[in-house]
Amino acid sequence: MGKKLAGLQPERVFHYFEEICSIPHPSYREERISNYLTTFAKEHGLEYYQDELHNVIIIKEATDGYEAAEPLILQGHMDMVCEKDADCSIDFEQDGLDLYVDGDFVTARGTTLGGDDGIAIAYALAILESGELAHPRLEFVCTVCEEVGMEGATGIDVSMLKGKRLLNLDSEEEGIFLAGCAGGCTAECVLPVTRETVKQTVMEIRVKVLLGGHSGTEIDKGRANANQLLARILMELLAKTGVQLISFEGGSKDNAIPREARLVAAVTDEESIYRILEELNAAIAREYRASDPGIQIEGISNGTENRQVLTRECTRTVASLLNALPNGIQTMSMDIPGLVETSLNLGILKLEQEELHLHYSVRSSIGSDGEYVMHKLKLITEQLGGSVSFRGRYPAWEYRKDSAFREELVRIYAEMFGTEPKVETIHAGVECGILAQKIEGLDCVSMGPDIFDIHTTSERLSISSTKRMWEYLQNIVKKTP
Ligand SMILES: [Zn+2]
Repeated sequence: MGKKLAGLQPERVFHYFEEICSIPHPSYREERISNYLTTFAKEHGLEYYQDELHNVIIIKEATDGYEAAEPLILQGHMDMVCEKDADCSIDFEQDGLDLYVDGDFVTARGTTLGGDDGIAIAYALAILESGELAHPRLEFVCTVCEEVGMEGATGIDVSMLKGKRLLNLDSEEEGIFLAGCAGGCTAECVLPVTRETVKQTVMEIRVKVLLGGHSGTEIDKGRANANQLLARILMELLAKTGVQLISFEGGSKDNAIPREARLVAAVTDEESIYRILEELNAAIAREYRASDPGIQIEGISNGTENRQVLTRECTRTVASLLNALPNGIQTMSMDIPGLVETSLNLGILKLEQEELHLHYSVRSSIGSDGEYVMHKLKLITEQLGGSVSFRGRYPAWEYRKDSAFREELVRIYAEMFGTEPKVETIHAGVECGILAQKIEGLDCVSMGPDIFDIHTTSERLSISSTKRMWEYLQNIVKKTP
């Protein structure tokens, strides 16, 4: 296979990027890329650490004259989100990606690119291999499983690090520096259900063609959640006619706003259901005309069947629980205009034979407010006879008003590009929060070159932005003593 990125500048960065893309590296399958990093360290005579999770730390001592300079931590993650088009034959466990250049972009045919966060590794290796660049002690921290709950950052031992300044290279918008993020967890609510057998008309009701999106960064777009919308439809139907649930499901990831949901139910009056659905269709179209205009609600009759259905009482309890539990934005920040402070998303809903399962992704930039939401989920679910468990908790990365490192980075940026970067905090998780809990007094900033449509098969990395950020990164490294 010939080199697809040959000739692109910066040459060494794209050299490493292409190597990374040729090594399979989905979440939980980082062993090969992890070994690639340790081989790199050995070949360059660098100190390195690899743990049983496959996290890797590579250390390069300061060059002459920089011995007294404060060490600099560079950080990124090894794993990538693996999405592919229906007609793409790539096996993410075995195959490299099919890269190509399209104008100013590097992209992968039919799959995600993994520029998130392969570009961080490519930058770090290009810096670590350099014999010319003057620098303080460099500590490169490369984690696993960032995309599936930041388990690598949670488990990593960082006791050998000497740096108190960390540059995270896992942001995707040039000119925007991240300086804080939300913390969160996944909540799973379980409600036992009881069934009986009835012979009645069975109908399927679907909501579909919603826009969906990321439950953190797109929760403020006012889009409908298919699970929540269908729960509301169930409630409206119960108010006017007889319905007993058979099945109900929607969504596949707790951190994605679900785009489709469907339920099957035994009904007493098919005609009135069609009429109610028609009214709801019109109402929903009006409510979401600006934020989610394509929503479709449809009912399909399956004829008369003998089925195991939830009891009337139990169907009402399910509808009550789903409609009483909070969902979506809970609070907006009063410090930072436009920033969502606390939210939750009912990402996965599944009614099984004996239990209803709900998965929520809870996020908050204020620890106590996030806990308030968790307590509400617990109280309401328990009151209706269910139970709640929380897992994958990660801390918020709280914005520091005074950050000497950030000020330095802003100054270097302004000198180079003639304009100041925007400093923002986001309503999604980055690893800085976890690392800041492990390293006392850690001063972090997150940045990176332009990457568009991450986590989708349209993901593409800007070549010109990669070059500008490379020059900037070298200046950060050089100018730090
Ligand atoms: Zn990432």
